[in-house]
Amino acid sequence: MAKEKTLQDLFHDTLRDIYFAEKQILKALPKMRRAATNEQLQQAFDKHKEQTEEHVSRLEEVFEIIGKSARGKTCEAIKGIIDEGEEIISEFKGTSALDAGLISSAQAVEHYEITRYGTLRRWAKELGMSDAERLLDKTLKEESQTDEDLTKLAEKTVNEAAKSAKAA
Ligand code: FE
Ligand code: FE
Repeated sequence: MAKEKTLQDLFHDTLRDIYFAEKQILKALPKMRRAATNEQLQQAFDKHKEQTEEHVSRLEEVFEIIGKSARGKTCEAIKGIIDEGEEIISEFKGTSALDAGLISSAQAVEHYEITRYGTLRRWAKELGMSDAERLLDKTLKEESQTDEDLTKLAEKTVNEAAKSAKAA
């Protein structure tokens, strides 16, 4: 029979998944920033890179709380999401649809993070780890806010630019 595993093990496993993901995101954000043409979008990527650095350190605090070393576990999901973002960059480079595509790729990343942090926060609560719960909640709120800000930016400017440009 398989060795018994608990919610604590699942929490640790998922923590390693999002830790890997955050580090990949940290590498992807500057590439997205370089590709973006809208100034507000560039600023949004800069701001979120700074936040992402904090997300990594908060996760390291959570690893400490559970007495484990901070070690990522390969997350194929985030690799796929980031690969698709890179495809958008190469396929839409130089077109007026690029920024809209970058926003949609960035939102796919945020939504992945939101599911992970939502689950981890709930498990932290169920496991009675209130400090970890608070740290995870902070990051979750920043991910959700980023998602909302990207929606606003898309509605305000970028989608309009993508729609109104004449096809070359
Ligand atoms: Fe994050
Ligand atoms: Fe994020």
